[in-house]
Amino acid sequence: MKYLVPDYVYTPEGLQANKAISIADDGRIGAMMPYAGGRTLTATDTVAAEIVMLPGIALLPGFVNAHSHVFQRALRGHTHRPLSHQDTFWTWRRAMYAEARRLTPDLLYEGAARAYREMLASGYTTVGEFHYVHHQPDGTPYASPNAMSQAVLQAGHDAGIRVVLLMAAYAQSGFNQPPEEGQRRFCDVSVEAYLARVESLREKGVPVGVAPHSVRAVPEGWLRAIASYSHKYELPLHVHAGEQVAEIEQCRVAYGCTPVELLERFGALGSLTTVIHATHANATEIGLLARSGCTVCVCPTTEGDLGDGIAPYAELLAQGIPLAIGSDSNTRLDPFEELRWAEYSARMRYQRRRVLVADAMASPGPLLLEYGTRNGAKSLGIESGVIAPGMLADFVAIDVKHPSLAGWNANDVLDGLFFGASAEVVVGTWVGGKRIR
Ligand SMILES: [Zn+2]
Repeated sequence: MKYLVPDYVYTPEGLQANKAISIADDGRIGAMMPYAGGRTLTATDTVAAEIVMLPGIALLPGFVNAHSHVFQRALRGHTHRPLSHQDTFWTWRRAMYAEARRLTPDLLYEGAARAYREMLASGYTTVGEFHYVHHQPDGTPYASPNAMSQAVLQAGHDAGIRVVLLMAAYAQSGFNQPPEEGQRRFCDVSVEAYLARVESLREKGVPVGVAPHSVRAVPEGWLRAIASYSHKYELPLHVHAGEQVAEIEQCRVAYGCTPVELLERFGALGSLTTVIHATHANATEIGLLARSGCTVCVCPTTEGDLGDGIAPYAELLAQGIPLAIGSDSNTRLDPFEELRWAEYSARMRYQRRRVLVADAMASPGPLLLEYGTRNGAKSLGIESGVIAPGMLADFVAIDVKHPSLAGWNANDVLDGLFFGASAEVVVGTWVGGKRIR
């Protein structure tokens, strides 16, 4: 048993002072108890216990990055120069495919370990890795069919971050179109072959989710089989939808409906489902997402970088849809910036302030924290994102004496963090009770 004694801790009741947090040997939070100025806990509590004093620190729940393609970190800077006369998501995608093509298990491991260390330094303690570079460049499986998945998992393990591996399924380049050259290594020969690879990871105890890449990339039979596998084993199901207008137009041509309607038709919406982006979701789609209990994961820095558009934040919020965040293409790794841009881009879309708030007279800070922690954890099926007994002991330490936070008070500390600071205020990270940095 050990105890952390920060100056402040952010719990579901708000910011609290003079609390000790006990961490059990299984990496979960045991109890939270009063602790004031050097006074010992109780005689029984302190026997053989390690007490770690954390002066000048506010502990927050660790941030959850619900959507990452870790290898894309290598593209930052290199895809911001002209790639064509008029760059779009689609010209960026060509550059991304070229990067995906050169990956080997070793290169993937090296890049992922570096990026995961950066994520930890910025305050993310869990990552949902939406992993789709599975096979050799021509599509032939490696001798070990999950060699690339293992490279990601090993990188996560060595960096110390919690990884939920969202195994992407890919079959085609577009509705009823065969895969392009650059997509072959993303594709399995059949949904059975894909599910067999998921199964072998799941049986080893790897935290996994299933992830039909998008309605473009998998046909009906795949989507139905993957959705039923998700239900059978209660696994998270993540899927990109509505990031680009072209996808919606193509979906209408192929099926006479929008991507979210198609997901519903094929049984892929439910409380285990997280739709990534939903940037161009219309009112019908938002209604379906709400009724099905889905989460939406927004990725504001990537959506800005790729020129995707701004999610219909106010409509999603009005329908009570939980939002999570993802660093997606990983151009920026900073949960504070990601959350700030969720609110800022919403302000620009609706031309008003305080869009992402729990009620009309609330501050954005608490809801943004929920997006960055609890909702991401729920989306990934892990018991994290809240500092409370029984939850995983995943924390970030905030330096409350940092110049960015000068003048803070207990009422507006979260607003100060999300609007006035960035990841430079993070001075420590714990994953499963273990201090990583
Ligand atoms: Zn993505």
